[in-house]
Amino acid sequence: MSVDTALARMSADLFVNGSWIPGKAGALDNVDPGNGRTIGAVSLAGADQVAEAITAAENAFPAWSATPAAARGDILRRAAALLADRGEEAVATILLETGKTEADARGEIGRAAETLRWNGEQAGRIPASVFPGVAAGSRRLSIPTPLGPVAVITAWNFPAVLATRKLGAALAAGCTVVFKASEFAPATARLIVELLVEAGLPAGVVNLVFGDPQAVSEQLTCSAAIKALSFTGSTAVGKTLAAQAAPNLIRTVMELGGHAPVLVMDDADVDHVIATTAAAKFGSAGQSCVAPSRYFVHESLYREFVDKLTAKAASYIVGHGTEDGVTLGAVAHQGRVDALVRLARDAADHGAVIATGGRQVDRDGFYFEPTVVAGLPLDSNAMILSEEPFGPIATVSSFSTLDEAIAAANAAPYAFAAYLFTNSMDVRDEVVRRLSASNIGVNQLAPSLPDVPLGGLGNSGYGYEGGIEGILAFAQLRLVSETAGDPHARR
Ligand code: NAD
Repeated sequence: MSVDTALARMSADLFVNGSWIPGKAGALDNVDPGNGRTIGAVSLAGADQVAEAITAAENAFPAWSATPAAARGDILRRAAALLADRGEEAVATILLETGKTEADARGEIGRAAETLRWNGEQAGRIPASVFPGVAAGSRRLSIPTPLGPVAVITAWNFPAVLATRKLGAALAAGCTVVFKASEFAPATARLIVELLVEAGLPAGVVNLVFGDPQAVSEQLTCSAAIKALSFTGSTAVGKTLAAQAAPNLIRTVMELGGHAPVLVMDDADVDHVIATTAAAKFGSAGQSCVAPSRYFVHESLYREFVDKLTAKAASYIVGHGTEDGVTLGAVAHQGRVDALVRLARDAADHGAVIATGGRQVDRDGFYFEPTVVAGLPLDSNAMILSEEPFGPIATVSSFSTLDEAIAAANAAPYAFAAYLFTNSMDVRDEVVRRLSASNIGVNQLAPSLPDVPLGGLGNSGYGYEGGIEGILAFAQLRLVSETAGDPHARR
């Protein structure tokens, strides 16, 4: 084991207007999903403390939005460097509160640092546009201006990456933030905020709160001060939040659930498909919005595919991230284990063969066996084909025609990541055109990196994170039409 868990501080208070303060609404345990033990506590904000956080973000906005973009970017880049410096602490923190393996925790910290750095580099490069006017001497300028104080609410499963994607873009754009992080991963959120403060972020620019999620989100979306809400989490909660934000016309970005299909065509190399996708399927114990979860395999390769994926799944070593050799970690809590057991049983009731796994692992903590569910017909009503499994479980079904495969892939009510394995350019073009998916990996994974915009479709959400588009989600394109010539110019 090369993770030094003594470096991690697993409790988190609120951070309001530049001070760390205990919450007035009590505290929840921070639990290590890898053994079920309490490792810290998360402070819960009272309504007056959420109100103070909103006021702090409001008061900090004029100065922060007027800070030169390059100076805002410097803070983000310094925070990226600090995260790298404190990488071992960050890895230990993530591993302990999310149940990830060491490799997954290290991978996440690398991506989080890259995300802060990239947004820092872009802050001074957010493009404005100039259009010629019609009248002599007139012109029109389209100028991105920061929206104002914004709310960001994040899921627990990639606590560092999700925080840095949202905070990086909002701060680069010049917005101030009330950050409601997940109560299931509070210490990682605390660490990211600490790094920003150490890097020079002024008081009030980012305020961190935890609490009763429903009450806090209602307060945020009912506040006239909050101009946008960027949310990452489940589709059900996203729909609730979008409805809450609508009456006040608060702009929303919704990064929601996924149920990624993998289309394996008859010319694919089965070993390559499994070697490529297994990392995304079983990494973070399958708790990723882009995790492949429904394999549709051409009938000519089906038997070979099931046998090889089953062997791969069974080869994972399940355990706590601090144990040597562990390659598959825990799921978030017992509720996730129960949901996965239910999905596997329901699939078996619908005629599937549980080729491997299907049960809770008999040890302390919250572990579900790596599981392959084979043989569901394409039109099966088994819940696992429509419900986001969010765990180390995958179905494998066989198809004979491309039409059948596309229809089956499109049948789930999500439209986020999807994967295709083929050497045919024609098939690639057709699948990219017809698949309900916003993030398609062709013969490779479908990573969400900081430099490219990515957003959901349908029940997977809307709006973009990443790229300049992700920064512009926190900006208003203000149109200025001006003339230095004809005073009667109208266009
Ligand atoms: P979740 O929806 O339960 O929680 C997300 C956030 O919403 C947390 O901060 C939580 O405290 C808060 N929340 C929970 N219930 C709420 C309520 N009733 N009102 C207001 N806020 C509430 O999701 P989770 O379990 O933390 O994360 C898993 C989900 O997130 C999965 O569906 C996964 O696919 C999705 N996700 C999507 C992306 C993406 O980029 N599209 C990335 C990561 C995770």
